[in-house]
Amino acid sequence: MAAKVTFFPVDNGDMTLIQLADADKTCLLIDCKIRSAADNPEDGTPDVAKELRNRIKTDINNRPYVDAMLLSHPDEDHCLGLKTHFWLGPIAEYADDAKPQLEKRIIIRQLWSSPMVFRRASNDHLLCPDAKAFNKEAKRRVAENLKQNFSVGDGDKILIIGEDENGKTDNLGPVLIKSGERFSGINGQAADHLVSHILAPISKQSDVEEEILSKNGSSVIISYDIKNSAYSSTVSRFLSGGDAGVDIWERISGEFESSDLEYDLLQAPHHCSWRSLSHDSWSDNGESAQISQSARSALGHARNGAIIVSSSKPIVDDKDDPPCIRAKREYRSILGNSGIFKCTGEEPNTSKPAPLQFEATASGFKLAVGISAAAVLTSSSPPRAG
Ligand SMILES: [Zn+2]
Repeated sequence: MAAKVTFFPVDNGDMTLIQLADADKTCLLIDCKIRSAADNPEDGTPDVAKELRNRIKTDINNRPYVDAMLLSHPDEDHCLGLKTHFWLGPIAEYADDAKPQLEKRIIIRQLWSSPMVFRRASNDHLLCPDAKAFNKEAKRRVAENLKQNFSVGDGDKILIIGEDENGKTDNLGPVLIKSGERFSGINGQAADHLVSHILAPISKQSDVEEEILSKNGSSVIISYDIKNSAYSSTVSRFLSGGDAGVDIWERISGEFESSDLEYDLLQAPHHCSWRSLSHDSWSDNGESAQISQSARSALGHARNGAIIVSSSKPIVDDKDDPPCIRAKREYRSILGNSGIFKCTGEEPNTSKPAPLQFEATASGFKLAVGISAAAVLTSSSPPRAG
């Protein structure tokens, strides 16, 4: 079985599932956006919660779970539906065992959270209720880890992504991954199947810069080296960076080597926004808007045959941003003739979009054509193991 990356159609927003090729099919969910319309069977909005549930596993108590969940940043289009669909609080108090399977809240065995990204978002705007709930859960898990000397079970585990300012995360050494560092596996599993390289959040170099970073869609940016299959020695690279804006990509371009920034699969930042590639407004300046060459360079290391995915509404030739038609053109030019650009709102068609699922191969990612939730269930039913 190949490792997979699935992008769910959530309009402008992110909800992405990485499934490794180890025996346990260890998985990481990056962000979620589950609108109430998506939960309404009478509504045509894609039922992404069902699509997610059809792809994840259940434990020995028949409770659905993900091995880990990362919140790239606490904006509503990256965490909507969290409280409704995920269990927050101690597992000992799990309250959904008597509910129908599809209504049971999903357990997050390990939470991946960045206090620095949270602080920057709170400095810039009010947090939505789901973001507040994520933050509360992260704080609960940190407190539990400190109390238990970091010896906690699934459901209490946390990984802190990026050190916070003024030594606020200095006492979290065993669960802290600093910016620039690499680490293996997910929740202590599948260490030989995934290496995650933290490219952001970036630490400030001055107070002025801190303000710029706060207003620039500060997000966790990770480059994932995913082993293609259980018996393969090759890896494919997925680069995902939330809504990071142009200033952040400029900094990344200066701080990392080209080899760190190469990818086989890229999630176009901020739903294919022009403001990840330029300081100029697309709506105001149109074609005269100038591109930032260093931001483009950070996002320009596509390997031969690479794929770029815009997790967004359909991309239309108008003044809207995001998604932005000119950003799409720029990504197309980065890909050249060998690459493929896809938009979650357009596949297989704009009236009824379905999850975009890619499988890792020896030569990068390939689109798994015609995948529906039913086909996923029958062809690769996950083991019902804890
Ligand atoms: Zn967003």
